[in-house]
Amino acid sequence: MNTLKLVAEKPVPLDSENPKKGISLFFKLQVDGANIVDGPVVDLKALGQSADRSGVYAVLVCSCGDPGCDVVTAEVEATAQTIQWKRLLRADDSGRPPKPVNIAPLVFEKSAYRAAIENAMKGIQDHQNRIAPISVLGPTGPYLQ
Ligand SMILES: [Zn+2]
Repeated sequence: MNTLKLVAEKPVPLDSENPKKGISLFFKLQVDGANIVDGPVVDLKALGQSADRSGVYAVLVCSCGDPGCDVVTAEVEATAQTIQWKRLLRADDSGRPPKPVNIAPLVFEKSAYRAAIENAMKGIQDHQNRIAPISVLGPTGPYLQ
């Protein structure tokens, strides 16, 4: 089994001249203790959906929210006990075809996979108590909660 971990990056002000506008909080995705790629950040909604059912999910996206910039998609198979990433592809704005990320296939224990996502969601809530609004990545890019 592989292990999944979401690591919060240092919060970034939405507007450096006006810190009261809130912060952006992004997560790096680590598998077995290492970032799987440099650059794109976790799309928490897509990753959360991948914990429930099989499909193809854009699990990492450019921090600007545009999957046309930089995206990693996972072909996911959800079973009763496990979440399998059968294939990982990275695409960017170079116009070249997507390239495989060579660590797949990966197999995660479903409850640990869910716990990693829930832990990240809890981290967001902790920040919301301090500073609001906050921007995290959703299905169509950064959004305010
Ligand atoms: Zn971008």
